[in-house]
Amino acid sequence: MSSPPIIVWFRESLRLSDHPALYAAAASVAPVVCSYVYDQESPELRRLGGATRWWLAQSLRALGADLQALGADLVVRRGPAAKVLGQLARETKARAVFWNDVAQSGPRAVAANVESALGEIDVASRVFPDDLLIDPSKLRGKDGRGPRVFTPFWKRVLALGDPPKPLPRPARLSSVSVVASLAIDELALEPTRPDWAGGLRATWQVGERAAQGRLARFLDAPVRTYAANRDRPDVESTSRLSAHLRFGEISPRQVWHAARFAAAERPAFAPGIDKFLSELGWREFSRHLLYDNPDLATRNLQPSFNAFPWTQDGAALAAWQRGRTGYPIVDAGMRELWHTGSMHNRVRMVAASVLVKHLLIDWRLGEQWFWDTLVDADPGSNPASWQWVAGSGADAAPYFRVFNPMLQGEKFDSQGSYVRRWVPELARLPAALIHQPWAAKPLELAEAGIALGRSYPAPIVDHKQGRERALAAYATLRTSD
Ligand code: FAD
Repeated sequence: MSSPPIIVWFRESLRLSDHPALYAAAASVAPVVCSYVYDQESPELRRLGGATRWWLAQSLRALGADLQALGADLVVRRGPAAKVLGQLARETKARAVFWNDVAQSGPRAVAANVESALGEIDVASRVFPDDLLIDPSKLRGKDGRGPRVFTPFWKRVLALGDPPKPLPRPARLSSVSVVASLAIDELALEPTRPDWAGGLRATWQVGERAAQGRLARFLDAPVRTYAANRDRPDVESTSRLSAHLRFGEISPRQVWHAARFAAAERPAFAPGIDKFLSELGWREFSRHLLYDNPDLATRNLQPSFNAFPWTQDGAALAAWQRGRTGYPIVDAGMRELWHTGSMHNRVRMVAASVLVKHLLIDWRLGEQWFWDTLVDADPGSNPASWQWVAGSGADAAPYFRVFNPMLQGEKFDSQGSYVRRWVPELARLPAALIHQPWAAKPLELAEAGIALGRSYPAPIVDHKQGRERALAAYATLRTSD
């Protein structure tokens, strides 16, 4: 009789290479049961948004196909992880369950429940470090908390040297046959009526192979000009790895080592690579903030913001969500988001700033919209970035720095090609006017086929007035200190 199997519980590392739990299970003599539990019931976990649910479905399909090539099936179940894994362990007579850690309080609480449920039936648990370059518990200050300012944080991470080298993917898996599994479709992760995911399907290749291919292509050339071009939404100058990282189709260690290798091979790429790795550092920093602040998506890190006089304006929120604010760079970003599930980082900053400052709408409403629509919606980076833009966060942009959406557009999309792509009703305006169509003369608008206020909205709020209103609202915080 073969030895009792080990269950590998796939969580947020949907890949085969550099997967510490899978690697250890495959290296043992035991057969392996690879499982994924779709857990929407444990109260400690934030429910996924629509775009990440879509991504998850594709990612699980890709993982299932990759596992099959190694001779194993992906056993998919639904329910609270502790109950489901206990049941699976009993069914398969497993001796142990292995998984990779997710260094956040909610997922760790779920894992603790799994461990105790398994303990009750004498099944062992083994947890492996995974989703970060460095475990947050290793970067504690005297007050027991992690760094709250990015630059010293990143210096400390760099001073620790390279993270462990990535592990290879197992060459083959000896698996247990005939374990009941749900089909991915049964999880109902993808939209049907209406099916709004056409743009996502047309934009993304999902899964570990796609992630590795994207990284290789990025390091082959675009990284060279990354430092200079990363703020430009009109050229594809960034890696577009964020959703792959979000679902662990690629690990930060793999990205780190591949980038360092490329820098050693091609010294001319080194400045771009350092900048790229420091952006990966912002992901890490955001996850460390989340570790210390599990309520990052709901609580102002700076309590003074609790008194901020946000407005309740459903019409303005809807105009922003639909890309109808009258600020072309913002509308282009919001439409790109709706169509592709992503938005360029610079445009995310401008769009978020317009919501929070020009429209005085609570950053949490913007965070929730991004959470639902981004394929890379991340429990750390999304709320941390929103709080950064709002000024309520750790190491945040000062509130009084209000982005000028016209200048941002002119600087980073100087020919207007990004706006032309996503706001086709403005496509015939010349570059000099495309970021402020209201400044065009009536004849110029007519020639471009634009009826301002009808075919394209006038600005939802005048920039100067919006800025002054935002600063006045902020001043009430300082006087109430
Ligand atoms: P690259 O420029 O190639 O960077 C490499 C990697 O570094 C990214 O894949 C990402 O993992 C990380 N990274 C880059 N910039 C940042 C940043 N500013 N903060 C944190 N990590 C970063 N990123 C998410 O991954 N998920 C989110 O939910 C998310 N929400 C955001 C919300 C707002 C309001 C803003 C301003 C930014 C947000 N970001 C978020 C950060 C950033 O916009 C994206 O990580 C980036 O656009 C992804 O594109 P890329 O993979 O081509 O990045």
